[in-house]
Amino acid sequence: MNTSFASFGLAPELLRGLDEKGYIEPTPIQREAIPAGLAGRDVVGAAQTGTGKTAAFLLPILQRLKHGRQGTLRALVLVPTRELADQVFHSALSYGKYSRLEAVAVYGGVSLEKQTRALKDRVDIVIATPGRLLDHMGRGHIDCSDIEVLVLDEADRMLDMGFSHDVNRILGVLPIEHQTLLFSATISDQVDRLARRALKDHAAVEVGGRAAAAKGVEHLLVAVDRLQKRHALVRLLGELPERGRALVFTRTKHGADRLTRQLRSDGVRVAALHGGKAQSLRTRALDGFREGRIRTLVATDVAARGIHIDDVVMVVNYDVPVDPEIYVHRVGRTARAGAQGVALTLMSPDEWLLMYDVEKLMGMTFHRDVMPGLEPAVAPLQPLGRHAPARRSGPSLRPRRGGARRR
Ligand code: AMP
Repeated sequence: MNTSFASFGLAPELLRGLDEKGYIEPTPIQREAIPAGLAGRDVVGAAQTGTGKTAAFLLPILQRLKHGRQGTLRALVLVPTRELADQVFHSALSYGKYSRLEAVAVYGGVSLEKQTRALKDRVDIVIATPGRLLDHMGRGHIDCSDIEVLVLDEADRMLDMGFSHDVNRILGVLPIEHQTLLFSATISDQVDRLARRALKDHAAVEVGGRAAAAKGVEHLLVAVDRLQKRHALVRLLGELPERGRALVFTRTKHGADRLTRQLRSDGVRVAALHGGKAQSLRTRALDGFREGRIRTLVATDVAARGIHIDDVVMVVNYDVPVDPEIYVHRVGRTARAGAQGVALTLMSPDEWLLMYDVEKLMGMTFHRDVMPGLEPAVAPLQPLGRHAPARRSGPSLRPRRGGARRR
């Protein structure tokens, strides 16, 4: 079943913020954690960064804070590092852009003064590292007596970094009645003990980790000059099995639009999906793809996060992603639920180094293929230490064994 953010009953101003971010559908963790959070339940979420966990806890909080006394500190998010504090703070600003709520980030390594001033003003949410928060509490800059929601984000890291004592002290000054949302990449014994102490009758939510692609994915690499990518893609799409669908990723919205136009002029039925399109157009594109009327969808990464489509037999990386983690995320769109799928990357010579990063992250080396008639001007380098000749037959969409090797 496909869920939309609107079906959670989120306020229109929050939906507007999400729409501006380009989010189309909730990610798996959001699908499960948001309803529980909105219902006021405690939640333990086993989820890593990259799964969309920040919105999973911030959206229920922002929705709750709309009602009641605004300008009073009612939500506290504890995070292990200042980088994460900053990231969560910026997420709160963008999701809550139209909500008139005030968020303040509080972390060490910078002067107390600016944070103190911000805390004396109107504030609804504080996002803090434990040590600096205690520092401010000790100085009387923060009043926790109205806290309604506590988030423990990346709890495992927080405990690993030795914040257990600090977290306990903070728990001790919160009102007895409050909601707790705990997120952790792993639920270690230590995290479990913390959850037992801090939470009551919680909903447990779990989603798979991200740094592993599904087992049924075959990774194929095709070396091709940038200007030939379009022709290579048309040829590959011509090989799609009946009723099979292909999801093609580009790095930018502009790139997605351009490729969509080019494919149309090459006679391919295709739709584009990215955050720059009006919601109605995105829904139409997604429905057409889901229902099989359109079998090729060109998308940017932000648009593809969280969408669930069965029968995607091929994911094409039209651009090699700059962040190798994105590769894992993209190829996770195929071979879902034990099915087989092909992840095919069109790699131009300027992208060879980016591809090495992907291989390093995955712990695999991929064979470099070329397509007859579309060979790049420069022969592709084989993975370091491997010198398998590129097959001249061109890639096949039929999954085969041995396309990728574990390092
Ligand atoms: P997080 O796991 O919260 O750090 O989120 C990882 C990335 O996913 C961030 O760049 C978010 O902006 C993005 N993101 C989160 N939820 C969604 C969604 N429903 N649709 C698209 N992107 C999302």
